[in-house]
Amino acid sequence: MNCSNWIIQTKGLVKRFGSFVASDHLDINIRQGEIHGILGENGAGKSTLMNMLSGLLTPDEGELWYKGKPIQFRSPRKAMEVGIGMVHQHFMLIPALTVAENVMLGRKEGRSPWFHFRKVCRDIERISETFGLDVDPSKKVSALSIGQQQRVEIIKTLYRGAEFIIMDEPTAVLTPPEVEDLFLVLRHLREQGKTIVFISHKLQEAKAICDRVTVLRAGKMVGSARMSDTNPAELARLMVGRDIAPLTIRPYSRKRGRLLEVRNLSVRDKSIHLLSDINFYLEEGEIVGIAGVDGNGQRELSEALMGLRSLASGEIQLYGKTIRQLHPRYMTEQGVGYIPEDRHREGLMLPMSIGENLIAKQYKTALFSRYGTLIRRTILEAATKAVIEFDIRTPSAENSAGQLSGGNQQKVILARELMLDPQILIAMQPTRGMDVGAAGYVHQRMLSERERGLGILLISTELEEVMALSDRIAVLYKGRIVEIVSREEATRKRIGQCMAGIGIS
Ligand code: ADP
Ligand code: MG
Repeated sequence: MNCSNWIIQTKGLVKRFGSFVASDHLDINIRQGEIHGILGENGAGKSTLMNMLSGLLTPDEGELWYKGKPIQFRSPRKAMEVGIGMVHQHFMLIPALTVAENVMLGRKEGRSPWFHFRKVCRDIERISETFGLDVDPSKKVSALSIGQQQRVEIIKTLYRGAEFIIMDEPTAVLTPPEVEDLFLVLRHLREQGKTIVFISHKLQEAKAICDRVTVLRAGKMVGSARMSDTNPAELARLMVGRDIAPLTIRPYSRKRGRLLEVRNLSVRDKSIHLLSDINFYLEEGEIVGIAGVDGNGQRELSEALMGLRSLASGEIQLYGKTIRQLHPRYMTEQGVGYIPEDRHREGLMLPMSIGENLIAKQYKTALFSRYGTLIRRTILEAATKAVIEFDIRTPSAENSAGQLSGGNQQKVILARELMLDPQILIAMQPTRGMDVGAAGYVHQRMLSERERGLGILLISTELEEVMALSDRIAVLYKGRIVEIVSREEATRKRIGQCMAGIGIS
């Protein structure tokens, strides 16, 4: 193997936090001029590795080589000096300042009020043109979209002479068209000889943009390959450490009963329209996905449907009958399950045990309570069964919900809702914060419940999730449903454009 074109090599790199090994003897090679994906589930050690490469963390053992020589950084500034730059997931920009001022922040020449604003602007324009970034240096950052702000962060690294640019989960904050634009920029950077590290847990994105990928699991490097020699299924297996069954969806046959129908629903906060004229229905055995960028009315819609928010106008029908007095308890009694977005505030009672949480909605039924006292053993048995069935990772079903990781808390909520045998499930971001394995389980489970007739309203900002599971997809944009299409009609492009408000009058 020709070693001269490695830009970065790590040799037995170790990083510990106390006794916990976050990076476990990593040998990773990144070639000059490639887009290299670093894949791994939450907690796999991706950010820790990148923080060592960019000088934020110092390794405990091992060596870091840059362009064929061992190197040590004591700070990000030192890393920057040799040409390593990082674009963090959360941007570090000051909205009230212009692009040029932000680029100059923290630089000596930028501190003078007389720094050559015009020259800096010209430099930025030149960089912007070379790399197809299309950013106006004199604009205030507050006037820029998220995608443009991200490009300002890229310009900051390029302005400081970066040759090696690390992007930590850059697509997490972007709409699908913005992701396409970012990929164009990354390809431009590659054409100009820059090396990019693209951190992600989204396999389709890695497939679309990476030349090579390295997979981390629990701090270890578990594989590295050219993207053309591997595929998303194999990468998912490496990330999780076992097979992930592919989702198989049987075609939906439309002749069954209508479970839920929403007509002309509007929700207002004083004079502000949060939801306007929403119309859709959900049938038995059907999954209807609500796609959209976060903050376009998803929360309001789920809350309105559950009776947690009053309607300004319109009506909701359950099983063909208009509901007169909408409130959460009534909806539960009518067979509507609900996975709320914020599982801490609305979802679980964290100090209580897993078992107590599981029966929280049915404590009045005879099965668990007799003369007002909960029957501990029955609860524990039910809880233990759910822990096994839903693969809730906990030493005991008697542990408190607060001791579980976020993904496992979400499984408790799902178990609790499904134990009630609902006919309708309103699921808001059901896999947020879950790793690939747990999310895969939840998806499988939703599909098998759909097979037995459950109607699911899947409200999610993860377009992949909505597209993979839904029989029909509605797109929510600025409080309106701007499109409803069937699974067959739905393309990423079409849905993505609607999510971004493109082509909507
Ligand atoms: P990823 O970016 O792949 O999600 P991280 O590199 O952020 O993963 O974290 C890897 C592991 O190291 C996690 O279990 C995390 O809790 C732990 N970790 C990361 N940073 C610290 C720290 N500063 N102190 C203690 N533990 C940490
Ligand atoms: Mg991370």
